[in-house]
Amino acid sequence: MDNKVLDCDNNVEEHTAVNQTLASTPSSSTSGCVSGDDTSDGKSVPASIVTAENYLTISEESQALCSVEDLTKAVEQCKEMVLDSAECSEERKWLVRRLIELRLRLQEAREATEQENGSPTQHSELKVVLGHHFALQNQPAATAKHHCDRCSGVIWSVVHSWYQCSDCRYSCHVKCLPQVCRVCAHVTSSENPLYILDICPEVGLSAQAYRCAECKAHITFKNSWVEPRLCDYNGHYYCPNCHWNMTCVIPARVVHNWDFEEKPVCQATRQLLQLMVKRPVLKLQELNPRLFGFVEELSLVKKIREDILLMKKYFVLCKEATESKLLWQLNDRLHFIDSTDSYSLQDLIDINSGKLLEYLEKVQSVFVKHIKEECKLCYGRGYVCELCDDSEVIFPFDTVAAICQKCSTVFHKNCWMKKNHHCPKCARIQERAKRKESTSSDDG
Ligand SMILES: [Zn+2]
Ligand SMILES: [Zn+2]
Ligand SMILES: [Zn+2]
Ligand SMILES: [Zn+2]
Ligand SMILES: [Zn+2]
Ligand SMILES: [Zn+2]
Repeated sequence: MDNKVLDCDNNVEEHTAVNQTLASTPSSSTSGCVSGDDTSDGKSVPASIVTAENYLTISEESQALCSVEDLTKAVEQCKEMVLDSAECSEERKWLVRRLIELRLRLQEAREATEQENGSPTQHSELKVVLGHHFALQNQPAATAKHHCDRCSGVIWSVVHSWYQCSDCRYSCHVKCLPQVCRVCAHVTSSENPLYILDICPEVGLSAQAYRCAECKAHITFKNSWVEPRLCDYNGHYYCPNCHWNMTCVIPARVVHNWDFEEKPVCQATRQLLQLMVKRPVLKLQELNPRLFGFVEELSLVKKIREDILLMKKYFVLCKEATESKLLWQLNDRLHFIDSTDSYSLQDLIDINSGKLLEYLEKVQSVFVKHIKEECKLCYGRGYVCELCDDSEVIFPFDTVAAICQKCSTVFHKNCWMKKNHHCPKCARIQERAKRKESTSSDDG
């Protein structure tokens, strides 16, 4: 299994032969892992060896190289150059990578032509692999170009078909499908919808037996070829095929340090975080209550969320509010209607940028307007403070208001303080209960 996943191009004949030639020297013994490299890695090649005549790269500019004939020629040319190059040289390493890349493309081009001619390699429309629901993509990609999530190579949607998972958007070449080793992020996030909340819980390369945490390819710092890349979210090391140095906001860093700086993560994490970003799974009050003390926007948002819940009690009893779907103002953050303490990572990102506060203030003013100005029924459910002579109608969400926690009656905050939180309504209820008790005992 291990050896198989190292080579995503193991169906390309002659590949092993080249590796064997190179494997005769110790320093190149890991050359089997370089299959399907990231095209951007081409930049790391020393400029000295990239001359006009040996630069056989398959960059976007040289898209002309896509017919089977051209590619066959290019493969032959590159093979000769490999043999001519000095053993263990940087140049040879580079050329071998190009050779493998060219062969992959040749293979793909062959498959594509076969498909056009209606020969046996018809791929099924739908495949289920490790929880992914792969749908065959026959049309050239309309938007940005795609990279294969298995081998990290470019997907030439003009030339051939490819698969994409309808749940997590994992994309791959048709030929890479059998080597897919990442469980669908949609499945992972459904099974365990919680974030890792330790900041980069690194375990170290040796604990991973010097293998990529996803595809198990050998990785080591000693060999610059297959450099281990750390995923800042889960603390594991990955090979460049599984970790493209893409960056994300890390939930643990936000929750503990209010730090929104994006950090490099592996592709699996990136997909996972993208799927999770709008889920309200962060109970901030439990995780880090001190945050509310030093992030002003956060405490303002918290206050508005509490007010919204108080106003919700009015709307559920108001026909007009129900009919006009007033609460649907919050339809992209429905969790704000259910609780005051669950936040999605997106909420926190938007609090940091100021976007959420602005949005909530707008919603709040629409709600307040309904209760205080537009709706007689809701207005009629306001309170008059029993503790003073003021006849002004007050509401539980007013800044001047205080609420008795036992009976929910509303008073002026000042009056409530002056009376030492002594609630006249609660007193009356108690009085009545006592009287009832005494009469019932008289009867008995
Ligand atoms: Zn691929
Ligand atoms: Zn998937
Ligand atoms: Zn890997
Ligand atoms: Zn109303
Ligand atoms: Zn009062
Ligand atoms: Zn009370």
